[in-house]
Amino acid sequence: MAENCIFCRIVRGEIPSTTVYDSEEFIAFTDINPAAPVHLLVVPKRHIARLSEAVAEDEGLLGRFMLAIGEVVRKNNIGDYRLIINDGPGAGQTVFHLHAHILSGRQLGEKLL
Ligand code: 5GP
Ligand code: ZN
Repeated sequence: MAENCIFCRIVRGEIPSTTVYDSEEFIAFTDINPAAPVHLLVVPKRHIARLSEAVAEDEGLLGRFMLAIGEVVRKNNIGDYRLIINDGPGAGQTVFHLHAHILSGRQLGEKLL
């Protein structure tokens, strides 16, 4: 847990969020500044600043993170979606606690690759 990290504070219930999924290890809530009709953030409760700081011991957590994302999608009937992880300021990361964006509800036709 990081004292002043926004997402750690949401995990601790110190900052309100619209939670759509909550398990022992992960939480998902709506993004405060949505970029699509459906914009959720899936967050491991354990503080890892960014994906590239994850290490071999995080292998299980990262695997379960991917499965949790699938569960969030199914439980919220999201259908097709795009998953984004910004890793570092140059990639647009602004909150330094690992999270995945789930974007859906509009045509996500612009393909980066
Ligand atoms: P990043 O830019 O780091 O990939 O994504 C951070 C996301 O967190 C942004 O889309 C931003 O709108 C969202 N965000 C920042 N602060 C809060 C907050 O206090 N509550 C919620 N629900 N979302 C937040
Ligand atoms: Zn944190």
